[in-house]
Amino acid sequence: MEKIRKKQLAKLLSKLESFKKPKVHLEQYRTPGDVAAELLWIALNDGNITDKVIADLGAGTGIISIGASLLGARKVYALEIDEDALDIARKNAEKLNIENIIFLVQDISEFNKKVDTVIMNPPFGCQREHADRAFLEKAFEIARVVYSIHISKEEVRGFLRRFSEDRGFSPQIISSMQFEIPAIFFFHEKRLERIKVDLYRFSKLIKY
Ligand code: SAH
Repeated sequence: MEKIRKKQLAKLLSKLESFKKPKVHLEQYRTPGDVAAELLWIALNDGNITDKVIADLGAGTGIISIGASLLGARKVYALEIDEDALDIARKNAEKLNIENIIFLVQDISEFNKKVDTVIMNPPFGCQREHADRAFLEKAFEIARVVYSIHISKEEVRGFLRRFSEDRGFSPQIISSMQFEIPAIFFFHEKRLERIKVDLYRFSKLIKY
């Protein structure tokens, strides 16, 4: 495959089909193309995508899984609890002739394979506090390096630092970006809410 550029990737990902009827309790909002591309690009440059086995926890309509596949992942596990969302993800992948994504309709807690890299955009916990906790817990269990997106707030930063360090991972904020999210998730009146998110790399600490 011809090498894709970051801007092209962002554009392509932003054009994928999105959630038809987002389920509020599952926090179904898709990652904007430019945010997904930024996260994937950093993982790529770190050497954590090419020829690697990736897991995308809470894959939704597949934007991160598809991006990882396009950037040369060997295999991608796309885990999603909601069949309707995963149907859209499958369609999105088919349209691009992508064949190395394994779609699993599954609660992330039930997945037990080891992978090289986790790349995910988990629920932020605006509906249920710390909804991202189970996602990180699982990610730390199955991979040594985890890329993830979280709300940019002092208390969230503090929580993520303690939470990851307690589990033997070192957190690093690799980028901060704007993220447009449908207001229904915050019960606000404006149609789209702009929030700031932090993009993280969590790396397993090596013990000597
Ligand atoms: N990663 C996608 C979707 C983000 S929204 C993107 O970047 O566009 C978070 C997704 O996690 C939703 O699709 C939701 O259905 C899914 N989800 C929430 N809880 C889950 C669980 N316990 N197991 C698997 N998927 C879950």
